[in-house]
Amino acid sequence: MSVISTTTLPEVDSTPPLLGSNLAQLTAWVQQQGQASYRGKQLYEWIYEKGARSLDEITVFPKKWRENIQDIPIGRSTIHHRSVAPDGTVKYLLRLADGQTIETVGIPSFKRGREGKNSLTQHSTLNTQHSPKERLTVCVSSQVGCPMACDFCATGKDGFIRNLAPHEIIDQVLTVQADFQRRVSHIVFMGMGEPLLNTENVVQAIACINQDIGIGQRSITLSTVGIPRQILKLAEHQWQITLAVSLHAPNQALREKLIPTAHRYPLEKLLADCRQYVEITGRRLSFEYILLAGVNDLPEHAEQLAKHLRGFQSHVNLIPYNPIAEADYQRPSRDRVQAFADALKQRHIAVSVRYSRGLSADAACGQLRTKNSGVQEFRSSEG
Ligand code: SAH
Repeated sequence: MSVISTTTLPEVDSTPPLLGSNLAQLTAWVQQQGQASYRGKQLYEWIYEKGARSLDEITVFPKKWRENIQDIPIGRSTIHHRSVAPDGTVKYLLRLADGQTIETVGIPSFKRGREGKNSLTQHSTLNTQHSPKERLTVCVSSQVGCPMACDFCATGKDGFIRNLAPHEIIDQVLTVQADFQRRVSHIVFMGMGEPLLNTENVVQAIACINQDIGIGQRSITLSTVGIPRQILKLAEHQWQITLAVSLHAPNQALREKLIPTAHRYPLEKLLADCRQYVEITGRRLSFEYILLAGVNDLPEHAEQLAKHLRGFQSHVNLIPYNPIAEADYQRPSRDRVQAFADALKQRHIAVSVRYSRGLSADAACGQLRTKNSGVQEFRSSEG
């Protein structure tokens, strides 16, 4: 019998990054390294609170041990490009260990009701005293690219490269936290990719963001276009996170035109799964509805949508379209947007209009992409 020598196999870096491990796992790891268990707590604090980027930085560790382990990755990305919008929104292009890049957005704001001049303050002036009313939301990516190919979305135009690993999702939160020098308060999975095509890694990342970084489940929103069986799989966790479902159309035919993959998940079945999600988790669900002038914003569309959602414990977020170069859609006027919202309200549907932050910065919903964006600066507010 011939034996293949292991030395002939290609060399693979099999050391898993430490980021994403909980306290018990890190404690077990330091013990395997022949260290006392309290070093696990130290490692945990340096990774999640101090934001250590390499083991060599952890000065409380004995120097000799540090030298031995300095090449073991924590799993942090590097900021390849960073740009700040006039409203304080910061867009990052992050480089991963294999050279792939993803976008992440940091959005500083005030709780609703306090929005005003102050909410436009540049983040760099906010790093000392923060009132509890100040929010810092991170819009995270779950994949490099996206395979869903929604007709109105820039990310989908570049195709799909790969899923992100849990540590690559968690890193985005720590990176924004370190850059803003303040705690992140909210997470939205609305960056690049479809989170429910990467459910296992996204679930692991959410558990860590919640338990190890300390962001409350109710401050985490997962946005999905809907993948068969995955909404119910997510429901099994019975988490208190907010599920946002990108509906965008009130009937199957129009939905398939906007979201080609929707043919695999009939609207009736998607809505039935959403109802079950609400039953299992006890959480109200959000529906996102992009408004495209003359396409899905007519009175009959509002009427059809209201019919589907009557009596459903949900909230509709209307997102006026953010124009992208590759699509011919138009954003409806403010009056048309308001008329659509009013038509839903009259039918007792809870509704909000969400104008994206960072719009002038190509950092708005659906505008994240790696191709061509690496060196793109935010346009000025007058632009
Ligand atoms: N794949 C997930 C999450 C990423 S997109 C999803 O589809 O929900 C986050 C939100 O931005 C989605 O509701 C998406 O439909 C919306 N979006 C995409 N392109 C947009 C655009 N050009 N203008 C406004 N919203 C857009």
